This record gives sequence, C-alpha cells and structure tokens, in this order.
Amino acid sequence: MAWYDGVTLAEVDHEILPFWEGLKRHEFLLFRCKRCAACYWPAAYCRNHDDSPSLDEMEWVPTSGRGRVHASVVVHQVADQAYADELPYALAIVELEEGPVFPTRVIDCDVAAVRIGLPVEVAYRDVPANDITLPLFRPIPTPGPR
Ligand SMILES: [Zn+2]
Repeated sequence: MAWYDGVTLAEVDHEILPFWEGLKRHEFLLFRCKRCAACYWPAAYCRNHDDSPSLDEMEWVPTSGRGRVHASVVVHQVADQAYADELPYALAIVELEEGPVFPTRVIDCDVAAVRIGLPVEVAYRDVPANDITLPLFRPIPTPGPR
C-alpha cells in the first residue's frame, strides 16, 4: 500500500488540500516559490531565502506530472486483504522533473520493469467512494519498433 491508499478527501492534511483538489481535476500541483520558482512537495518554505521565509511567497501550480524512478521495491504480500488483488505491485520514489521526490506506486507495467531511471508520468486514479483521486504513476510510453 502506498501512503495515500484508503485516504478520503475529508482526512487529508489541510496544508496540502490544494494538492488533492488539483488531483481531482487531474492536475499535479507542486508548491512553487514566486521568487525563484523552486518547487516543493509537500508544502514547505522555500529554502533559498533564509532571510525571509514566508508562505505568502509560495503558490500551488500545475506541473508536468513527470519524473524518473529514484528507488523502488516490489511488494508481494500485504496485511490488508483489500489490496490483495493488486499483488505484486511496485512502490517507488519518483524524482519529479521539477525536483521534489514523491512516494507512489507504479502501475500499468510488469513490476520487473520498474527500475531506477525509468521515465514515468502521473496516472490519476479516481476513487469516488472516498471522494478522492490518487496520484499513481505509470511508465511513459516510448516509441518502439514496429
Ligand atoms: Zn525561492
């Protein structure tokens, strides 16, 4: 299970509520500094201005939703049988194009294909029962030989 599995919109941290609202619109938002454009996830003060850290200078903006697998592990067993149908699955840390790292699951491929450096993009999974959309990731299709 990834950190967000089973979460409902009513339960999410208020600080990152705009992130979850973006996912419902199928937008992947990061917290960006208006002064230097550095991106953060989750919400944080920009580390580049120690003189005047201020959330007023930060804003949630849509981003590419793309990155590369930075680390991964394949899960073969789960304690919660609600996820047994998804076994085996790949948990991964994705390094986003904008810089932050994001813990997630990689879907839509053989788990053996999930390797360090694999280009991936966000795959929005709507979960109407929980009033939420989950940020899973999938490999970016590459043009292959025909
Ligand atoms: Zn900054």
